[in-house]
Amino acid sequence: MTDIFDNTILCKKCNTKMERARITKNRFLFRAVVCPKCHEKIIHPVDEQEYNRFINLKNKEFRVKMRLVGNSYAVSIPKEIVSFMEEQEKVMDEMVRLCFEDIGRVSLNFGKVLNRK
Ligand SMILES: [Zn+2]
Repeated sequence: MTDIFDNTILCKKCNTKMERARITKNRFLFRAVVCPKCHEKIIHPVDEQEYNRFINLKNKEFRVKMRLVGNSYAVSIPKEIVSFMEEQEKVMDEMVRLCFEDIGRVSLNFGKVLNRK
């Protein structure tokens, strides 16, 4: 599949050939093209769409039920959250770090384990 950014894109303001770049916003990486002359930029439409999906999903509250499984309690993580993270990370570890953060609050960390020095 060809990507639209594989084409030569000219800046609509000054007609200069735009250059590929990477832009980050809220830890989200966007593909973009930037005009070297007037710094006009275009975000890749697919990445922009993904970002909007992320914003909609972020902070959305889900009501999930706790179930007793053996000596532990299990809660279901909505598939749309996991699917989204999988798409972003490409590969996801099935080991998740869980932390009793505060009274009434447990956090899950799906990120890769960083080597603490
Ligand atoms: Zn320009």
